[in-house]
Amino acid sequence: MLSYDEEEGILWLHPVFAAITKQVPDGKQSIIVTIDDCDCEDCDQDRGPVDMVSTLLIHLPTDAGIAIQRLSAKEARALGNVLVDYANDLLDFNEALDDER
Ligand SMILES: [Zn+2]
Repeated sequence: MLSYDEEEGILWLHPVFAAITKQVPDGKQSIIVTIDDCDCEDCDQDRGPVDMVSTLLIHLPTDAGIAIQRLSAKEARALGNVLVDYANDLLDFNEALDDER
């Protein structure tokens, strides 16, 4: 079930799945977002009882390894909508500042 709080430009998303970290020796420093639709043995094991093609994975590089957060489609949509809204607010705000200069 989707669980989040939002107030004054801050979103607290409470995902169903816990984040994990993995050590990736040659990991690139890229944020990766993907639909979990891989049927290889490793992905099957990571997914456990979760249905394939039912969640998204966000890979976030950190100094402690790659943080991997699994999100339901509704969680991902809530996060994505907020990212777009906040980014548009920032762009609008900065454009208004530029117009004043
Ligand atoms: Zn895989």
